[in-house]
Amino acid sequence: MVDVQIVEVSPRDGLQNDPATLTTEQKVGLVQRALAAGLRRAEVASFVNPKRVPQMADAEDVVAGAAALPGRDDHSLIGLVLNVRGFERAAATAVDEVNLVVAASDSFAQRNQGMSVQDAVRSVAEVVPLALAQGIAPTVTVSTAFGCPFEGEVPVDRLVAVVAELAATGVEEIAIADTIGVAVPADVRARVRAVRTATGDVRLRAHFHNTRNTGYANALAAYEEGVRVLDSSLGGIGGCPFAPRATGNIATEDLVYLLERSGVDTGVDLDALIAASDWLGEQLGRPTPSLVSKAGGFPRGAD
Ligand code: ZN
Repeated sequence: MVDVQIVEVSPRDGLQNDPATLTTEQKVGLVQRALAAGLRRAEVASFVNPKRVPQMADAEDVVAGAAALPGRDDHSLIGLVLNVRGFERAAATAVDEVNLVVAASDSFAQRNQGMSVQDAVRSVAEVVPLALAQGIAPTVTVSTAFGCPFEGEVPVDRLVAVVAELAATGVEEIAIADTIGVAVPADVRARVRAVRTATGDVRLRAHFHNTRNTGYANALAAYEEGVRVLDSSLGGIGGCPFAPRATGNIATEDLVYLLERSGVDTGVDLDALIAASDWLGEQLGRPTPSLVSKAGGFPRGAD
């Protein structure tokens, strides 16, 4: 058992807003490298309207490719869905989990999903029983959990209220996401503690962007507060097409270095991650924002 589970989000959150468009084969190559490095869960595709997110138009093919990789029984493939229609597309593939999204702020919900927060919660409540009936684990990400690009501060009470409604739907895991990278560790501690009052037995997960260079400190704060599932993206790529100026996710290799050097077992091979990140940079045609991929691990050869 590892101390903390890392969910690799580069194939979806990482690539969906990238100026480069990777082929299906390249996306599957990315998933393959991530899983071979020891990551066990990967968000591989988004079953949203391809007109809105053209980068994800090959979702079915990416899942099929990822599901054919060796070690299938050890891997959990995640597809992002926003509603029942998206769920039905995802359920026709080999995904093991569906991740739904509910914003904590109405303005973001309207721009990102074209619906209110309440309607998004209703979508989750509709999808959860369908997913459970088909043996697909339903999880939900609460976006703008630390701040909204349109409304500014998101009150803690507001976040807790949304999380409480989601926990009541029977979802298996709730992620709190700093979509626009505004959080600092004090926010993380306060919000994790507050949200815990509403989650009951539902597993908590955290998702950080390094927009203001606080992403890694936030991830460590979440871990120290007892969060045992963290999202990250190889190379630190990523953004959100509906969140202005949202820059990359925290980089998987930088996060693994930070955690492993802190004595936290991730089960992931750092050298393999660095090689995967270098490969990803070559596919994108530019170096990725991560630092550990440039500097290497320490001591050399250790991971
Ligand atoms: Zn994100």
